[in-house]
Amino acid sequence: MSNDDGIFAEGILALTAALMPLGEVTVVAPDMERSATGHAITMHHPLRVKEVKLPSLKVKAYAVDGTPADCVKMGIDVLMPEPPDFVFTGINRGANLGTDVLYSGTVSAALEGCIMGIPSAAFSVAGFEIDFAYASKAARKVADILLSNPLPKGTLLNVNIPNISEDRIRGLKVTRMGFRHYTKNYVHREDPRGRAYYWLAGEVVDSPTQENSDIDAVNNEYVSITPLHYDLTRHDLIEPVKGWFKER
Ligand code: MN
Repeated sequence: MSNDDGIFAEGILALTAALMPLGEVTVVAPDMERSATGHAITMHHPLRVKEVKLPSLKVKAYAVDGTPADCVKMGIDVLMPEPPDFVFTGINRGANLGTDVLYSGTVSAALEGCIMGIPSAAFSVAGFEIDFAYASKAARKVADILLSNPLPKGTLLNVNIPNISEDRIRGLKVTRMGFRHYTKNYVHREDPRGRAYYWLAGEVVDSPTQENSDIDAVNNEYVSITPLHYDLTRHDLIEPVKGWFKER
């Protein structure tokens, strides 16, 4: 189990509690919040690991002073005696929809699991004031399904759960990754010495015509499940691009 909100975040405690009945859980997560660190790994300084106790959960848990991808690599390579059957990440505070998955530490941690040959899933809730009760249930459902439906190598499920009560959830939808665009990205202010600084803010502008996308599903109060792969190749363009480079 890993995340990018930090090892003591409510979401990873909820995910651990929800999936503990399925088997042995080891938690390896950043010692502090590392949201939006993408797939970064630490190369230029050493990593420290600290075994920690999670509030009221009897599992092995390690805090690492690195990124989410570091945590998954270290968990599998160093901390666990055997590789895990699954890597589950989250439950993230905030959605990981559309192109935002490319910035997400939560999704990247699951992707790192895939790169290391372990079937993985990332869980996020589309909100910031969250009651994790339903999200935990949804995560358990997805994990149950993965136990009997093996994912092909290199694939993860990116699961986004609307932040609404269970009775308003309209169901589960298998979706494609959408496109998320932001505007008014930076707030410009002045520091106490009169120098400019810029702080990332940003407002989402989702184009309304993204049928079957993860964004569309969550907007319409469905749990979105997107199978993702780390292969970013546009396979359909290989032949045309070959044509451009002929005779060169
Ligand atoms: Mn996060």
